[in-house]
Amino acid sequence: MGAGATGTSVVVNLVRSGAAQRIDVFEPGAIGHGKAFSSTDPALLCNTSADSMSLLTECPDDFVDYLHGLGMPVAPQDCVPRYLFAQYCRDRYLDVRSLASARGVRLRHHQDKVVSVAGAGPGYTLLTESGAECPADAVILCMGVDAWAPPVVRPFRRHAGVVPASALGSVAALSCHSRVLVLGSRLSAVDAVIMLSRSGCRVQVASPSGTLPSVRTRMYPHPPDRGTLTALAGHPWVGTTDAAQADRFIAGLVRCLAGHGRPHLRDQLSLADDPVERLRAEIAIAEEGHNSWQDLTVEFIALTNEWLLRQPPVAWQNFWAIVEGVIDRYISAMPMGNAKKLLSLADSGHLEVRGRRPAELFRTGGRWTMKWQDGSCDHFDSVVYATGYRPPAMWCSGGRLLLGAHRQGMPPAVSADLRVDLGRNSDERVFAVGQCSATRAPLVHGVVAVAPQVSRVMGQLRAPPA
Ligand SMILES: Cc1cc2nc3c(=O)[nH]c(=O)nc-3n(C[C@H](O)[C@H](O)[C@H](O)COP(=O)(O)OP(=O)(O)OC[C@H]3O[C@@H](n4cnc5c(N)ncnc54)[C@H](O)[C@@H]3O)c2cc1C
Repeated sequence: MGAGATGTSVVVNLVRSGAAQRIDVFEPGAIGHGKAFSSTDPALLCNTSADSMSLLTECPDDFVDYLHGLGMPVAPQDCVPRYLFAQYCRDRYLDVRSLASARGVRLRHHQDKVVSVAGAGPGYTLLTESGAECPADAVILCMGVDAWAPPVVRPFRRHAGVVPASALGSVAALSCHSRVLVLGSRLSAVDAVIMLSRSGCRVQVASPSGTLPSVRTRMYPHPPDRGTLTALAGHPWVGTTDAAQADRFIAGLVRCLAGHGRPHLRDQLSLADDPVERLRAEIAIAEEGHNSWQDLTVEFIALTNEWLLRQPPVAWQNFWAIVEGVIDRYISAMPMGNAKKLLSLADSGHLEVRGRRPAELFRTGGRWTMKWQDGSCDHFDSVVYATGYRPPAMWCSGGRLLLGAHRQGMPPAVSADLRVDLGRNSDERVFAVGQCSATRAPLVHGVVAVAPQVSRVMGQLRAPPA
């Protein structure tokens, strides 16, 4: 259910592995688009390098090979326009549709949304928004994320002047040369600034942290040098996920970052207080090739997910909240091209970045006034919220999984092998992949994190039902 990047990867690997005879894909939109890749705007780049974006679990270079097949001279570390990844998903889906038909596997895309999954004996019945019912032996949940609106903008969500960042590509452009507030300062805010700058808007980016993502030029070291962090798994400071251990964990990580002939940590990172000066310094560090931390990103994601999957979520969630606060801007770093665009906008007076918390938004004299928690006020022509995404709302009640907000029940538990507990005391064949598994694995917001999960689920699907 759900065929953004994650669901497309599931379908492609299911067909290629021969693990299913009939596959019903429920996706109301286009295959492979999802929240991340539906924009056709060539200015919107992937935040991750092409060599980390394969859909195929057994072929990590598949996306790079695909781009080369189109005649594009792309290097593995390049961050390509996002629409190319959507096109890759669609083409790989079409490839496996032919393969499925040759192998006698029935593969069908239903443009419909699933609203519930009910346990029915050893199998399941899916109910959709249009009222259709579909039986299944196993269900794989890949519903991705929903945009999150902060309370301060909720009363104005239907107003044309208050726009989610995800809609900027499709709404009629905000007035040229207007003054725009972007709430949030992470990757979606970076996209928003880039889009708004084309209409000459002057933008204030504001968030409680007031920090932009760091800057990367690749995700894998060249030449490959994987295994630096592998020792992490055996370190004494990884023994427990008590919140008190978070500082020791970060200290250990820092030791790994500085070792192995890498530059001293003070040469890899900038701690400048001013976000624009920090951006300037991090661009310079990346240009000199001193941001060696970037080479550990993928290994860190894989190890952390693997390790925390084995701990009960209640044991690591406080711990993780602290660690995430420190590492998030590096895990979710922006590509150099975007960093340079932002710096040039800041230098020309079109962008300012502030650390502040919104208190109240109201409309006065045809403009928006944002009152901040420090009591000050600013005036804007439009407000864009780029305040992040949340995993989809899922509830478990009476052996059924209910999807969508305003439903009743308990959020379902997800086991270490990614099975979703419907409260029936059985080893369900309902699996959560990508953001649907976020309560169990913390770093699932990237294509690179999905492949190990897809492999894990494929392995269990091939095993006979308990
Ligand atoms: C703006 C943005 C940019 C990003 N850029 C990158 C990047 O460059 N690199 C990277 O690795 N990651 C990126 N990500 C993270 C990205 O979300 C994941 O990497 C990846 O796309 C996985 O998405 P997904 O398929 O799990 O979810 P989504 O893309 O959210 O797709 C979920 C799909 O499920 C469908 N769906 C939802 N509910 C139901 C239902 N009840 N029934 C049926 N279908 C349903 C939706 O229609 C949607 O198509 C980005 C994310 C965002 C939001």
